Amino acid sequence: MVELKTAAEIARMRVTGEFVATVLAELRAKAAIGVNLLELEAHVRERIRERGATSCYWDYAPSFGRGPFRNTVCLSVNDAVLHGLPFDYDLRDGDVLTMDLAVDIDGWVADSATTVIVGTADPADARLVRATEIALDAAISAAQPGNRIGDISAAIAGVAHDHGYRVNTEFGGHGLGRTMHEDPHVSNSGRPGRGYPLRPGLTIAIEPWFARTTDRVITDPDGWTIRSADGSRTAHSEHTIAITADGPEILTRTA
Ligand code: MG
Ligand code: MG
Repeated sequence: MVELKTAAEIARMRVTGEFVATVLAELRAKAAIGVNLLELEAHVRERIRERGATSCYWDYAPSFGRGPFRNTVCLSVNDAVLHGLPFDYDLRDGDVLTMDLAVDIDGWVADSATTVIVGTADPADARLVRATEIALDAAISAAQPGNRIGDISAAIAGVAHDHGYRVNTEFGGHGLGRTMHEDPHVSNSGRPGRGYPLRPGLTIAIEPWFARTTDRVITDPDGWTIRSADGSRTAHSEHTIAITADGPEILTRTA
């Protein structure tokens, strides 16, 4: 069931969204050669504690994971793209790091992800990261009242195909608000004009992610981390948005 939010509810999600965006910006600034993933996890844990927020990931136990997740941020390096389990690893020159953060403040959730290249970027990695950002921008532009979910999905797939990347449809975007995952599903590929209608009050996370040379994924032996099946590098960009009568509003933005 899809729940449309009131303006007051969206305002509360905006508060959470600003916090998520601020912490992700801090992580982007911190991610550097030699920094350990566990330091980034510790930073998020402290920021959530001092804000009185709740991590959506802590104790998260979906059907695909192995036992409850005991971290507050997903950190996915290189061929890892989704649900990356923070571990004892010092970032190296050229690493592609995706950071995905979902937080609940006073019962309202926001979810965002960003990818940064540590140190010297391989141009092919930079192009990949940029493609996910362009796809996210295009998808948000398509998220107009009166359009449908398929318009968002088609915008993402169009940018992927323009860049020569294939699109995986197992993992995509989603409704959210009171919880991290609500209806509707927002696939990263679809047909324009099809699917659930975009009405004011709909709040969704849009999250294009691509791998350089495959659309297939494998699950790491840690039971959580999703990697490209061929080991090629990956990138992921995500915002939480609200559909308003005036158009899409990005909620995961710094104030
Ligand atoms: Mg996310
Ligand atoms: Mg998400």
